[in-house]
Amino acid sequence: MSFSSLGLSDSITKALSDIDYTTPTAIQKKAIPLVLAGHDLVAAAQTGTGKTASFVLPLLEKLNNGKVLRGKRIRALILTPTRELAIQVDESIKKYSQYTDLSSLAMYGGVDADAQKQQLIWGVDILVATPGRLLDMAHQRALHFDELEAVVLDEADRMLDMGFIDDINKIIERLPQQRQNLLFSATISNDVRALAKRAINDNAKELSVTSDVASKPNITQWLVTVDKDTKSALLSFLIKEYEWEQALIFIETKHGAAKLVSQLAKRGIVADCIHSGRTQAVRETVLNEFKAGNISFLVSTGVAARGIDIGNLTRVVNYDLPDQADDYIHRIGRTGRAGASGEAVSLVAKDNFRNLCAIESKLGHIIERKAFDDFPVKKVVPISILNYQPKNRR
Ligand code: AMP
Repeated sequence: MSFSSLGLSDSITKALSDIDYTTPTAIQKKAIPLVLAGHDLVAAAQTGTGKTASFVLPLLEKLNNGKVLRGKRIRALILTPTRELAIQVDESIKKYSQYTDLSSLAMYGGVDADAQKQQLIWGVDILVATPGRLLDMAHQRALHFDELEAVVLDEADRMLDMGFIDDINKIIERLPQQRQNLLFSATISNDVRALAKRAINDNAKELSVTSDVASKPNITQWLVTVDKDTKSALLSFLIKEYEWEQALIFIETKHGAAKLVSQLAKRGIVADCIHSGRTQAVRETVLNEFKAGNISFLVSTGVAARGIDIGNLTRVVNYDLPDQADDYIHRIGRTGRAGASGEAVSLVAKDNFRNLCAIESKLGHIIERKAFDDFPVKKVVPISILNYQPKNRR
């Protein structure tokens, strides 16, 4: 199946062939025709499925009708949880729209607002924004929503996890009644459903493309059980023992991230980190250096790494196991893209046992364990019960 058979015209398909998109992904095949036909959507799809193009491409097609923009007006709004994702989505829009006259802008906090205001003066076709900065701009009357045709809530679950619900509600109240609504979320929790009920038409189409880990046999998963106080030594050992050349290392807290970077440095391993405590400029530089291969080991909190697309990522390390089984799936799905082989390694302490049970239950199998003589474990992590149902969790 080709992109043109989904209803996209030459100005868009030409841009796609420039960047070697030959075949639409599953979510693109399902979503593009529905969005073109004007439906509202609630879609369960995560990073790595091609979800961004699945809403950007049909929106570009619909907006590419020669309509003249008025000052401070936007025609489509894409809300994202993080600055990094906003930038990444905007970069995709710019690639896909290069043969059209459509304009786009990424707008996020942590940087000077004046330059962003200037860019809004003549209006923008597609604005990609984080909720807080968008509301600030709307309060300052730097933009108006009266000509808005479509809104996308991207990574809705993560926006809710990050506490953006009030901001999102305030934004939705400001939007025109007549509009197309698209919601994308890795998981459709009860909270996401409640948001969809408020923001999206009742007759929205529902789609789901879960990235089935079983369909990614190219990702090798293994874990090492460890006592908390020997974690950084174990990580250094693994890096050296296996001569790892690259890893994206997930950690729970920003303080933990900075500490781990210095612990690795003491053992002669150069790493850097991204987390919400670093400035936007620094985060971007570090990420680009990692993508370019100039930094081999990137330590990141889950939030900072959310939605970031790193091609050719060979290895993901869960220095801290995530709380949610779905997060584990997303994290490991960042490696082994496009058929390449990938590796996902987790360090698991006794405290993580419940999380491990939830993850292995979701996977439907136990993750292979490796043990190392130099790292005997005092607090043993039992073998999981595979039908574990987490309680009191969303
Ligand atoms: P996303 O899930 O939107 O973060 O996209 C994941 C990655 O897949 C990005 O690097 C996209 O550029 C890439 N991608 C999306 N759609 C296609 C496609 N149809 N063919 C090839 N690569 C794609």
